[in-house]
Amino acid sequence: MAEVLVFVDHADGAVRKPTLELLTLARRLGDPVAVAVGAGAAATAGVLAEHGAVKVLTHEAAEYADYLVVPKVDALQAAVAAVSPVAVLVSSSAEGKEVAARLALRIGSGVITDAVDVEAGEQGPVATQSVFAAGFTTKSRVSKGVAVITVKPNSAAVEAAAAASTAEELAVTFSEQATGTKVTARTPRESTGRPELTEAAVVVSGGRGVGGAESFAVIEALADSLGAAVGASRAAVDAGWYPHTAQVGQTGKSVSPQLYIASGVSGAIQHRAGMQTSKTIVAINKDAEAPIFDLVDYGVVGDLFDVVPQLTEEIKTRKG
Ligand code: FAD
Repeated sequence: MAEVLVFVDHADGAVRKPTLELLTLARRLGDPVAVAVGAGAAATAGVLAEHGAVKVLTHEAAEYADYLVVPKVDALQAAVAAVSPVAVLVSSSAEGKEVAARLALRIGSGVITDAVDVEAGEQGPVATQSVFAAGFTTKSRVSKGVAVITVKPNSAAVEAAAAASTAEELAVTFSEQATGTKVTARTPRESTGRPELTEAAVVVSGGRGVGGAESFAVIEALADSLGAAVGASRAAVDAGWYPHTAQVGQTGKSVSPQLYIASGVSGAIQHRAGMQTSKTIVAINKDAEAPIFDLVDYGVVGDLFDVVPQLTEEIKTRKG
């Protein structure tokens, strides 16, 4: 059976959920072969095998942490040469997209970014993208070389599928460019205790309608009742009510959760660009004509300060 490379996103050996989703999709195309690099790479093998990786290629070296993306591109290129896969799947983070683009350039392939689904096709893997504020769904395939595809988090359900897996060390020779951009400092972000915005299964976001920094507590309370991440529109971020890292949209983060709840957000095209592929969209807005209602699965016309606290209480009650 054809092999499919999955580039593993992990933190010191703890595999992130989007990688497990990629393994689910990879199994539709062939036998998943996972590539894990950096500190803790060897420790990822167990969980990857439980999710269908028939082989795990690992390489640990200081270069992966000390320099920006090129060492990772070198490793993936070495894996492509070793395996001759039909496709390479990478998670659609900012780093993932850069790695994918550089890899495709190196191996003379095409690249498809921000796919929301991947399936096998007669002439190679077919990727689905949602474009123009979810106005169109497109299907494309790479017509030259090995298909390099980045997939948005939450595009597939994680399905365990234990495989008889082998772990092997990948031989990687770093290129001259690998040490071109050195990391000079690292400051961990203060943890909010909430899930990472781009990976969260549920996102609760607030816009200008929230009215101030303190009022974001209403949004946070709903998020916490659902174990969700908190997002914000650019208007809310520009007003200084919420950190820039929480901005959803064209110039912010792109999210694709199972559930997106927008409160006091009008639904400008630039906001939609970052959340349109969410599976279920709920909006709370006091203006029945707000454009966000064109996009939603469920809409509540009302004042968010009435609706959101009631919703939070109801969720808490039902959770017991
Ligand atoms: P508004 O458009 O002002 O909407 C506020 C909404 O809240 C209204 O619909 C109102 O009815 C409702 N409301 C008010 N009070 C209440 C209440 N008490 N209860 C319920 N509802 C209430 N925007 C982004 O979000 N992300 C981006 O990445 C982004 N990138 C951009 C890039 C460019 C180049 C440009 C030009 C713009 C970009 N924008 C982006 C800005 C975008 O065009 C909008 O201005 C912005 O999204 C509006 O934010 P908002 O919906 O919070 O505010």
